[in-house]
Amino acid sequence: MSTAVLPEFANFALLKYMALYEQYPVFISNSLSGEKEEFKPLHPGQVGMYVCGPTVYNKVHLGNVRTFLTFDLVFRYLRYLGYKVRYVRNITDVGHLESDADDGEDKIAKKARLERLEPMEVVKQYTEDFHEVMRQFNILPPSIEPSATGHILEQIQITQRLLEKGFAYEVNGSVYFDVKKYHKEYSYGILSGRKIEDLMESGRALDSQDEKRDKIDFALWKKASPSHIMRWPSPWGDGFPGWHIECTVMSTKYLGETFDIHGGGMDLKFPHHECEIAQATGANGKPPVRYWMHSNMLTVNGQKMSKSLGNSFLPQELFTGNHKLLDKGYSPSTVRFFMLQSHYSSTLDFSNEALNAAEKGYRKLSQALKTVRQLNHPGTAGNIDTAVDEELRKLAEACFTHMGDDFNTARTLAVLFEMAARINDFKSGNQSLATVTAETFSHFSKTFIDFMEEILGLQEETTADDGLLDSVLGVLIDLRKKARADRNYALSDRIRDDLKKVGVQLMDGKDGEMSYVIVDPE
Ligand SMILES: [Zn+2]
Repeated sequence: MSTAVLPEFANFALLKYMALYEQYPVFISNSLSGEKEEFKPLHPGQVGMYVCGPTVYNKVHLGNVRTFLTFDLVFRYLRYLGYKVRYVRNITDVGHLESDADDGEDKIAKKARLERLEPMEVVKQYTEDFHEVMRQFNILPPSIEPSATGHILEQIQITQRLLEKGFAYEVNGSVYFDVKKYHKEYSYGILSGRKIEDLMESGRALDSQDEKRDKIDFALWKKASPSHIMRWPSPWGDGFPGWHIECTVMSTKYLGETFDIHGGGMDLKFPHHECEIAQATGANGKPPVRYWMHSNMLTVNGQKMSKSLGNSFLPQELFTGNHKLLDKGYSPSTVRFFMLQSHYSSTLDFSNEALNAAEKGYRKLSQALKTVRQLNHPGTAGNIDTAVDEELRKLAEACFTHMGDDFNTARTLAVLFEMAARINDFKSGNQSLATVTAETFSHFSKTFIDFMEEILGLQEETTADDGLLDSVLGVLIDLRKKARADRNYALSDRIRDDLKKVGVQLMDGKDGEMSYVIVDPE
């Protein structure tokens, strides 16, 4: 029997039974290999992904938002393809010191001291702020959001294991990771490409005060000074965990000793992620992560965004426009769209011109989203225009191709704009819907809607129409009042019930006055 060759554009009847991930491969630029590799999860159909979450000691800034948005897209797309994704993103609520060299105060403890709060009050306040900002940007919550303070025991246990294996040493109540020792057996620096010899030469030399054997060593556990408020008992006395160990513990606890994807901002590659690899490999004898992904930074008018340069803004300032560098405010969806216009591995530059252009572009797509829902295919087609029919199918396929190409949202958006143009042609009558098959149109419109909403997380913006909605509902409310005055209760009930079905709840007030609220449609 010869094998049948499927037509180029898929036999829909057969494809229905295949998971989307079997039809659409995903390629990821793996920071570890430096290559773009086809993504093959460790367990078929399942994906484990870990992303370093925020240190909750101040308000989340836009650079963080970009990182979490990047992995929101990875999460959304893999899930859309049918993978069962377990996405773990932690909350750092202890152990992140002011300096990467294990010096300085704990960021949370410092804030607590300055504001005269309990550390956990600081943590709660800024965790809530973080969640609120994520919600505003339509960034989905992860499957698990563990906190470092909730995993102190596990951090002590892995530190013990590293001591037993000889990859760590204790000095005066603190425990440090022995990088040179580790490097003899494995290889330190494989992610960042840094050479241990160069690291030994650069930076400040150890002095007699230092407890570390080598300056490249890093803390797994730090002894707490008498005044240190965040402290836990351990085999080495009261102390607190080092910053890197929490991620090793929380990723491997929930995803296994080896898991698929680990993500974070570019600035975390070294030392944080390098240390994570060393800790997990030292403890478990195998590398923890198969695909490392790093998102790039934000710049403002070509300069690195930083507090000290006065060019960093908070999400709230961006929404209100209340900042000296901004001409006006932009909606969260506009900013989300703006960030999607660049690939996550490129830098992204904020400027008023770019934001204004994004606002216009986003409005176009948002309008097309509204329009495509109003288009009804007339059913059995008359004269099919095969060129147009094929073009629509190609556009839909191109969305998957670009998203599967290392989550290239910039190219995906370019295709969505082409699709929006076709949608407008159908709407205006430039092209008759009857010239494409119902099946093609259904696939085309579903792809457009799903990519906009489920994958890119862009919502229809309603701002311009809010006033119109008010007026239209005013007309309906008046009609209902009239119906009641005429004792035509059948009609007045019908107006109420039909509105409820589309998501508008009328409320009868005293003196026969009526108001409305927007609810979920029935
Ligand atoms: Zn981390």
